Amino acid sequence: MGQLAYSGYSVSHESDEKADVVIINTCGFIHDAKQESIDTILAAIHDKQNGLIEQVYVTGCLSERYKKELPIEIPEVDQYFGTHDMIKLLKVFGAEYKHELIGERKLSTPNHYAYLKISEGCDRSCSFCAIPMIRGRHISRDIESLVKEAEKLAEKGVKELILIAQDLTFYGLDIYGERKLNDLLKALTKIDGIEWIRLHYAFPTGFPEEVIQTIAKEEKICNYMDIPLQHINDDILKSMKRGHNKTIANKLIAKLRKSVPNLAIRTTLIVGYPGETEEKFQELKDWIQKMRFDRLGVFSYSHEEQTHAGELIDDVPEHIKKERVDEIMALQSQISWEINQQKVGNIYRCIFDRIEDKYYVGRTEFDSPEVDNEVRVDATKYQIDLGKFIQIKITKAEAFDLYGEIV
Ligand code: SF4
Repeated sequence: MGQLAYSGYSVSHESDEKADVVIINTCGFIHDAKQESIDTILAAIHDKQNGLIEQVYVTGCLSERYKKELPIEIPEVDQYFGTHDMIKLLKVFGAEYKHELIGERKLSTPNHYAYLKISEGCDRSCSFCAIPMIRGRHISRDIESLVKEAEKLAEKGVKELILIAQDLTFYGLDIYGERKLNDLLKALTKIDGIEWIRLHYAFPTGFPEEVIQTIAKEEKICNYMDIPLQHINDDILKSMKRGHNKTIANKLIAKLRKSVPNLAIRTTLIVGYPGETEEKFQELKDWIQKMRFDRLGVFSYSHEEQTHAGELIDDVPEHIKKERVDEIMALQSQISWEINQQKVGNIYRCIFDRIEDKYYVGRTEFDSPEVDNEVRVDATKYQIDLGKFIQIKITKAEAFDLYGEIV
C-alpha cells in the first residue's frame, strides 16, 4: 500500500470506500480461510460485472497455493499473483518497487498500533500445516531494517508494535546462525515513542531462554506471550511433528509463569485432529482446566492436501469437531470469567482503539487487538482520545469484556 501510495495512487484498506481497482490479499491455509477468500473474490467479481469497479487483482496465499486452478475456476479476475510477486504486482500499475520506502507503510490498523513482520516463511514441518509450502522457507529480516521500520512507525504515532512471524522464536537463525529475537527486542525497546511491544506466535520448541528474562525486565515489553501449543496428548503432538511433548509444554509454561509474574499467556489449539479419541480430547480438556490460560483460541482440524496429516484418515466427523470446539470455548469462557472477576477494583493502564455503541473500547497490556479481551468505558460519561494511554479502574467484568472508569 505504501509503495502504491508513493507512486501517486490513492490507496484505501477499507472495502466500503469507492475504488476503480480492487486488490485482494488472500489467505489459504485452512478450509474456512480459503472459503472467506473465495467469497471475497466472488463479491468483487460481482461488483466488476455490475460496473462498480473496473479491475480485480488477487494476491497472497490462496493464489500462491492454487496458482494453476484459480485462473481456470475464476477467470474473471484480471490477474493472479503469488506470495513473492509484489514487484510484478506494482509493475501492473507502472510503479517501481523502492527499497528506501521501508517503513513508509500505509497502516491498515488504527494509527497507534502496527504489526511488524520480522520474518517470512517457516522451516518447520508441522503435519497439519500448509504454510511452509505456501510461504517458503524461513527468511528473517535483518535487525537494522526492522529497527528503521519501527522508528518510522513511531514517528507517525505508533505506540504499540505487535511482532509477528510464522515462527517468532526462530528469528535470526537463518541469517545470523543463531536465534536473535532477544537482540531485536532490546533494539526495539530503545525507540522513542514505542511504549508497548507484544509478541505473537512464539513456537514452544527451542524457546530462547533469554527472551523470558528480557520480558521480565523490560518495561516496554508487554507481559503477554502467545504460544500456540495445539494439543497436549503426546500421541497427537508426536503425529503433529511439533517437536515437544506434554512434559516440555508444562515445563515451559511453569517457567514462564515463574519468571514473569502477571504474564498473560495466550494459546491456540486444534481439535478433531486424526486419531483424537474421546479420551484424548478429555485429556486436552482436563489440561485446559488445570492450566487456566488467560487467553485461548481453538480451531477445528482442517484436512489439507499436500500436508503430512493430509495422508492420515480424517476420522473425526465434522459435527464432533464442531462440538469439541464449542465445548472448549464454553470451558474457556468460564475460566476467563473467573480470572476477570479478580480484576474488578484493579487499575490498569489501557490504550483505546475505537468507539463503539456508546463505549470507548480499549485494551490492557495483557490483550492483543481483535483476539483478546477489551476494556469498555462509557462514552456518554467520559471523553477519551483514541490512541492515548489512560489509567482505568475496573468496575465490572464479564467473560471476555471488562468495564471501567477513568481514575
Ligand atoms: S511452525 Fe507454524 S507455520 Fe511453521 S509449520 Fe508449524 S504451524 Fe505451520
